[in-house]
Amino acid sequence: MDFALTPEQHSFQQLARDFLDKEVIPHRAAWDRAESVDTAIIPKLGEIGFFGMTIPEQYGGLGGDYITYCLGMEELGRADSAVRGIVSVSMGLVGKVVLSHGTEEQKHQWLPGIATGAVLACFGLTEPDNGSDPGHLKTRAVRDGSDYIVNGSKIFITNGTWADLCLVFARTGGPGPKGISAFLVPTDTPGFESREIHGKLGLRGQATAELYFTDMRIPAHCMLGAEGQGFSIAMHSLDKGRVSVGAGCVGIIQGCLESSIDYATHRKQFDRPLASFQLIQELIADMSVDADAGRMLVWRAADLIERGKPFGTAASKAKYFCSEAAVRAANNAIQLFGGAGYVDEYPVSKYMRDARVMTLYEGTSQIQKLLIGRSETGINAFA
Ligand code: FAD
Repeated sequence: MDFALTPEQHSFQQLARDFLDKEVIPHRAAWDRAESVDTAIIPKLGEIGFFGMTIPEQYGGLGGDYITYCLGMEELGRADSAVRGIVSVSMGLVGKVVLSHGTEEQKHQWLPGIATGAVLACFGLTEPDNGSDPGHLKTRAVRDGSDYIVNGSKIFITNGTWADLCLVFARTGGPGPKGISAFLVPTDTPGFESREIHGKLGLRGQATAELYFTDMRIPAHCMLGAEGQGFSIAMHSLDKGRVSVGAGCVGIIQGCLESSIDYATHRKQFDRPLASFQLIQELIADMSVDADAGRMLVWRAADLIERGKPFGTAASKAKYFCSEAAVRAANNAIQLFGGAGYVDEYPVSKYMRDARVMTLYEGTSQIQKLLIGRSETGINAFA
């Protein structure tokens, strides 16, 4: 096994870190307080290539490999998970399924915009009554001539109020997962409405929305993939998304580790730097091990994707471990900082609030354990 990065991977990582150190980290606390990033950051992220990392060059992307994508996600997580989510939902959850399931026309219509950040996309799966169990979602799309008429609602949709494009999952057939189809819906379609959800614990810089569809008329050619294929498209997208969440969580752990080392070597108590106390080193050692272990799980899943091998269980393991480890690392970082960790002059309280949602979205920790358990035992314990 060769864990060394290629020169291209290394230079993208360095480029990403330099950019985020300059353009994001100095502003993240203010954006968090304002409950919105300065959206001028979005085209700048596009210029560096964050939105096009794994989109092929023929569709306006960089054509990078999956390890490079994970390195980008790690750097974004270290800098600001709210910004990471904006990128990973648009490019990762939506752009990549347009690439894998779209017609040539759909790819040419949407991917060049997504790859530069000129088009921002959102992923509309979760509904008020269906979160962990999206196979029973209720939004309905009824055929009417060459169109579908869509009615229903979605909740907790990242980028929902900012997006130009929404990947909407709606029921076109009978009950259960096989009755679901996916549609690429421009958000200026009449009948599409979004309302921002305020008061989130973390990820406050990104827009999270409720979506309402009222007699929304969508041409049939906006369907992504075949009728009834929507659930498998959503699961395919989330499997890859979980690797991205895992990578972002490694970035949170890395950020906690770096901040903690810096603070502990400068702050003195009992006439000695905090870093010289064994109990403080224990906190730092645990963060360091979690960062390395998490990175290995993420890179293994990324490597399986790159080689075209089954990667779903590896993605669940990476997401489960890294999200729980990010909460642990941020909690320990606050402990290490003492009172200073409780206010947003230092980044660790924001790391904690942002990390907390990672064990919830794109499949909760319980759902990941059920997926891993099913893979190990062959028994479905979901329902
Ligand atoms: P529920 O499904 O009601 O779960 C509640 C609890 O029950 C959890 O602990 C869960 O683990 C547990 N549980 C459920 N089923 C089982 C079971 N079979 N066995 C054991 N325990 C179980 N969704 C999108 O579609 N697009 C987005 O862009 C998006 N962005 C989000 C951004 C944020 C900030 C948040 C908070 C959520 C976002 N989501 C998004 C939604 C997210 O994916 C869901 O919140 C998540 O899947 C959990 O669903 P739920 O909230 O309905 O919880």
